[in-house]
Amino acid sequence: MKIAIVGGGPSGLTLASILGREAPNNEAFDITIFERGAADRDQGSGWDVDEEAQAALLRAGVELESFQRPRSDRMMSYRVDDMDRPIATFRMPPFISDLGVSKEQMGFLASPSLETERKKMVDGLTDALASHTKIIYESYISGLKMNNDGSIDVRGRDGSTLNGSFDVVIDSSGSGSPLRSARFAPEADAHYTGTTYVQGLIHSPEKTLDAELVRLLGEGTLTLYGPTRDGKGTEQLNVQRFGADPSDQVATIWIEVHSEDANRLIEELGFEGIYGITRDPAALQRVTEYTKQQLSGFPEQYQDLFDSIEGARVLPMRMHPFCGETLALTAPNSEGLPFLCIGDALHALPPWSGMSGNYALRDAADLATSLIKQQPREWTSASVAAALRGHERDFMLRTDEKRKATANRSPGYVDYMHSTEFTDFALSAHVLGKPPEEQWSTDDQVDSAVMAETIRFFVLLNSFDNYGMSES
Ligand SMILES: Cc1cc2nc3c(=O)[nH]c(=O)nc-3n(C[C@H](O)[C@H](O)[C@H](O)COP(=O)(O)OP(=O)(O)OC[C@H]3O[C@@H](n4cnc5c(N)ncnc54)[C@H](O)[C@@H]3O)c2cc1C
Repeated sequence: MKIAIVGGGPSGLTLASILGREAPNNEAFDITIFERGAADRDQGSGWDVDEEAQAALLRAGVELESFQRPRSDRMMSYRVDDMDRPIATFRMPPFISDLGVSKEQMGFLASPSLETERKKMVDGLTDALASHTKIIYESYISGLKMNNDGSIDVRGRDGSTLNGSFDVVIDSSGSGSPLRSARFAPEADAHYTGTTYVQGLIHSPEKTLDAELVRLLGEGTLTLYGPTRDGKGTEQLNVQRFGADPSDQVATIWIEVHSEDANRLIEELGFEGIYGITRDPAALQRVTEYTKQQLSGFPEQYQDLFDSIEGARVLPMRMHPFCGETLALTAPNSEGLPFLCIGDALHALPPWSGMSGNYALRDAADLATSLIKQQPREWTSASVAAALRGHERDFMLRTDEKRKATANRSPGYVDYMHSTEFTDFALSAHVLGKPPEEQWSTDDQVDSAVMAETIRFFVLLNSFDNYGMSES
C-alpha cells in the first residue's frame, strides 16, 4: 500500500512510525512523508500529553522522558499588585500524595502534566521511523490530483506531481491544511476564535529575568495578571519552561491578544508568510515593542520581559466546526476518495481545550491499527475509502464534547478579560469563563463560590511546603 503523509508533525510521524514498526511484513507499507519545514526547524514547546496520547507515542517508539521536563508540573498564578502570595497554585501538594491520594482524585487544580519539548517529540518520532520510510523536507504540498484508477497524486508548490501516484493520502498538515478542500467545502474550514498568542522564546530566564521571577517560575509555569494598557480590562502574561533536558533553561513567554480579525496582528507585526518560530531580529524587535505597549498597564519591571527574546511567533488560534456541521459540507464526489485528514487538519481545537494534540495522536494510532488490519486483505481503493469515511466521522465525533465546552467558554472568557477592571478581577470567574454579572442562576453562583473556595483551599494546602519553591 503506497501512502503519502502530508505534514511531518506529531500526528503524521506517529502514524508512519507505528505502521513501520507494527506491520507484520516489514515493507507492507511504502510511505513517503512530505514536510514543508526543514529537519532542524525551531518548534518550541509541546503540550500536556494525556494517557492515550502517551500510549500512541509508546507504540511509535518514543519514550516520554525523552521530551518531558522533570518537575515542570507546577503552575503558579499571581496578581502583579500582590506578588507575595499566589492567587492560585495548580500543583499536587506532596503531603497529600504521601497519604495515597492520586492527582485525579484531587481534581484539575492538582493535575497539570509535565511540560514537553515539541522538537524532542518530533525528533524522537523521526528517529523511530522504519528505515524504508521516506521523509522529504522543505516540500510544501499545495493540492491533490485524482486519477481514474482511484490513485491520487500530490502536487508541490509549483503544481507539479511529486513522487508518482499513491494508493492512500493522509493529510496531517495541521489547522491551515491546503488539502482539506478535497473533502470539505471552505465553509467547514477552521474559524478564528478571536484570540491570538504572541509568543517569545527565552534562552535562559536565569540570565535575563529578575531573580525573584525566576524563583516563582521554578521548573514550571508562571502566570501574572495585571491591568490592560487602557485600564479597562485585565491582561495575562505567562512564562513557561519546556526544555526536556533539565539543564536547559529555555522558556516561552506569551500574552493573549483578543481581536476580531485574525490577520490584523499578523500584518501589524509583519508576520505574513512566517510559519512557526522566527529568529529574524527585525521581527523580534516588532514583537518586543508591541508587547511593551500591551503590558504598559503592568508595573515597570514586567513591561520589558520580552526584551531578551531570541525567537518569536504569532499564532491566531483557530478551531473547526462540529462533526455534524462539517459532514453536511462535504465536497462533491469526495466520498470515495482514499484520502483522510487527521489531527489538527481534521478537528483543530484551541490550546486552552488542552486536548487538540491528544486527539491528533489518538487518530494516528487508531488509523495505523485500521490500515494494518486492511493491508493483508484484498483491499481496493473503494474499500480503503469506505474505511476512511468511518474513521473520519469517529475521529471528529469524539472531539465534539470538548469542542462544545471550548466554544461556550471562549466568548465569555474574552468578554470577561476585556471588560473587568483589574481591581474587580476574580480568578474563579476567569476559570469558569463566565463573569460574575452573568451568573444569574443559583447554580452559577454556587459553581462560582465553590470554585473560588477550592482555589483558595489549594493555595493553602500548597503553602505548607512553600509551594515547592526555594525560600527567597
Ligand atoms: C501554544 C500551544 C499549546 C498547546 N497545548 C496543548 C495541550 O495542552 N494539549 C493538547 O492536546 N494540545 C495542545 N496544543 C495543540 C497541539 O500542539 C496540536 O494539536 C498538535 O500539534 C497537532 O498535531 P498535528 O500533527 O495534527 O499538526 P501540526 O502540529 O500542526 O503539524 C503539522 C505539520 O505539517 C506541516 N505542514 C503544514 N502544511 C504543510 C504542507 N502544505 N505541506 C507539507 N507540510 C505541511 C507543518 O510544518 C507541521 O510540521 C497546543 C498548541 C499550541 C500552539
